[in-house]
Amino acid sequence: MKSNIKNKVLKRLGLLYPNPKSELNFSNEYQLLVSVLLSAQCTDKKVNETTPAFFKKYPSFMHLSMARLSAVQQLLRPINYYKTKSRNLIVLSKKVVSEFKQKVPKTFKELISLPGIGQKTANVILSELGITRTFPVDTHVFRVSRRLGLARGKTVEIVEEELKAAFDSKHWRTLHHLLILHGRRICKASSPMCEKCVLLDCCPSAESFKK
Ligand code: SF4
Repeated sequence: MKSNIKNKVLKRLGLLYPNPKSELNFSNEYQLLVSVLLSAQCTDKKVNETTPAFFKKYPSFMHLSMARLSAVQQLLRPINYYKTKSRNLIVLSKKVVSEFKQKVPKTFKELISLPGIGQKTANVILSELGITRTFPVDTHVFRVSRRLGLARGKTVEIVEEELKAAFDSKHWRTLHHLLILHGRRICKASSPMCEKCVLLDCCPSAESFKK
């Protein structure tokens, strides 16, 4: 891959989206973990609309560990897969209370031992907490990086490894957010707005989307 395109992606998207960060609303580690878990297969907007009432009723792992499943499901009803997520959150909270002193575990291995926490979710949590440099690959990162030719892999695991190899680890967190923002605003899944894209002149996929 030419370093030219890598530099352009970092520079131009950095200018377009200054101070890129998660669009989830959270104010502590507990809220971060719950919000990231709920955001799987669901929009951040929907999660942000749902969590204020949820965090008011369940402000900590301890509160959530003692919750009734039906009451949690009632509050999380607008979220995709709310039934499974509700069950996972209660079991996960019991485990955090009993095994991790009510604190979010700080290693990848411990995080993925919790129900509902997979590779991407664990990487997002570690990255947001500033514990480890990770490059979580969600649907936007996967799509946009492949369209730009930053990666070619056909699975998120391979794309993650390609991106980590291509960019210095100091850029991983920023680029993760930049690619998500660009995927949401411009390089949309079914109809990318190439004519408005700041990477139009260097994107190998732009031609294929010409009308
Ligand atoms: S030029 Fe089109 S395909 Fe390429 S990154 Fe921009 S929006 Fe996506």
